[in-house]
Amino acid sequence: MAKISYPGPQSEKIISVCKQLEGSGLRTFSTEIPPITIESANGIWLKDPDGNTYLDLFAGFSVENIGHSHPRVVEAICRQAPKLLHCPPAYCNELRAKLLEKLCEIAPKGLNRILWGTTGAMANEIALNLSRSRTERKEIISFHGSYLGGSNGIIGLNGKAKARARLGIEADAHFVPFPYCYRCPFGGCDNQDECKIIDYIDDMLRNPASGVGSLAAIFVEPIQGSGGVVIPPKGFLSNLQKICQEHNALLVIDEIQVGFGRTGRMWAAEHDGVVPDLMTIGKGIGGGLPVSAVIGREELMNFWEPNTYSATFLTNPLLHSAALAAIEVMQEEKLWLNSAELGEVLLDFLSSNLVDHPLVGEVRGKGLYVGIEMVKDKKKKTPAKEEARKAQLIAREMGLFFDISGYYGNVVRIAPPLIITRSELEQAIDGLINVFKIMKKDA
Ligand code: PLP
Repeated sequence: MAKISYPGPQSEKIISVCKQLEGSGLRTFSTEIPPITIESANGIWLKDPDGNTYLDLFAGFSVENIGHSHPRVVEAICRQAPKLLHCPPAYCNELRAKLLEKLCEIAPKGLNRILWGTTGAMANEIALNLSRSRTERKEIISFHGSYLGGSNGIIGLNGKAKARARLGIEADAHFVPFPYCYRCPFGGCDNQDECKIIDYIDDMLRNPASGVGSLAAIFVEPIQGSGGVVIPPKGFLSNLQKICQEHNALLVIDEIQVGFGRTGRMWAAEHDGVVPDLMTIGKGIGGGLPVSAVIGREELMNFWEPNTYSATFLTNPLLHSAALAAIEVMQEEKLWLNSAELGEVLLDFLSSNLVDHPLVGEVRGKGLYVGIEMVKDKKKKTPAKEEARKAQLIAREMGLFFDISGYYGNVVRIAPPLIITRSELEQAIDGLINVFKIMKKDA
C-alpha cells in the first residue's frame, strides 16, 4: 500500500468549510487527526476526493455490514424513489408491511411485534418508555461504559458520566460495572460462570440500603461497542435474564451495533441463547439509511394505546426499500457465517502476532468485531490513548481505516463490512501487523 499523505488539497478544502461553518460539539474534530473525507464508497473500499483509497475496517460505525452502496440496496432505492418518497406513520404502505414480515422472520423466536424508529437512540427511548409504562415502575439498571444513544431521553442511561455532565443530564439509571474481564473491578474470577457482577446486581435488588426500588428493566449491550469491544463471559446474559424474571423486570438487549450478523450470529445475544423481552435494532438493518426498531413480545408491544408515540419520518418508504433489500442480502449471502469464519482468522492472527507487543494488553473479539486494547504498561494496564491515535494515523497513511473506542479511548476497533473476502482480510491483517511493528519501534 502506498503511503498516503492526508489530508490532500481537496479534503483540506472541505474540512476547512465544515470547520468554519459548523457549530462545535460534533465528533468530527475531536482528535488531532483530521477526519477522513469520503467522496464515494463501494463494498469495503472508501475513496477520498484526492483519489486515495482506504480499506474500511470500520463500516461507518457498523452500519455497512453488507458493504457500502450494495447494488441491491441502490437498485431498490432507485426503483422506489420515483414511486413514493414519503408515507407518514398515520398511513399504510405495502413496503412497510413487507418489512414488518421480514423483520419478524429474522427476529429471535417469540419476538413478533415491531415499533418503528429511525435512529438507534430513538429505538432505545421507545423501549425505555414502553418498559416503564408497562411495568408501572421507574428503576432501570444500566452498565458502566454503555452507550445507548445521544438523544435526551436515553443519555441518562449511558454509562458515561462525563458525557452526561457536559449536557447537564442526570443519570436516569443505577449503574453497575459491566463484566470487563480484562479490567475486572472484582479482581477477576476462577470460573466465568460465577461472574461476581451477577451477585452484585442480585444484592442490589435485595438490599434495601441500595436505593434501588422495584426494577422496570435492565438495559444491556450484549457486547459493549463504544465501550471498546467488551465481551462478557458466556452465561452473563442468561444470568441477567434470570434476575429479571425473578424480579418481574424486563430484559432489554441493544443489538444496534453488534446485531445483524456482526458477531458471527444474526444477533449477538444468540451466543448466550437469550431471547430478551425487548430488543432494539438499527444501524446495519437500513443498508446505509436510518432505520431502527424495537422488536418485542406481543404482550408488551400491544400495551400502548394508538398514537402514544409518533414521528413524521418513522415509516419512510425509501428507507424501508433499502432495509428490505439489505436484509435480503444478509439472508441470501448468510453474511453472519462469513463473519464467524473470518472473525476467527482475524482474531487468531492478531492474537498470535500481537501477544508479546509491548503496547498491546489484550486482543478480543467475536466474529468480525475485534478490539485491540493498547496499554503503556502491560502489568499496570495503563491505557495508551495517544498511542492508539498514533496507530490510527499510521494505518490511515497506509490506506487502512479503523476507529478507536473504549472507556479510556485506547481500544483499536476492527469492524469491516461483513462481505470482506479472505484475501482482503489477509491484506488488512498484514497492514495491521505492520502498523504495530512501526509502533513497536517507538514503544
Ligand atoms: N446503541 C448502541 C449499542 C450504539 O452503538 C449506538 C450508536 O453508536 C446507539 C445505540 C445509538 O444509535 P444512533 O446513533 O443511531 O442513535
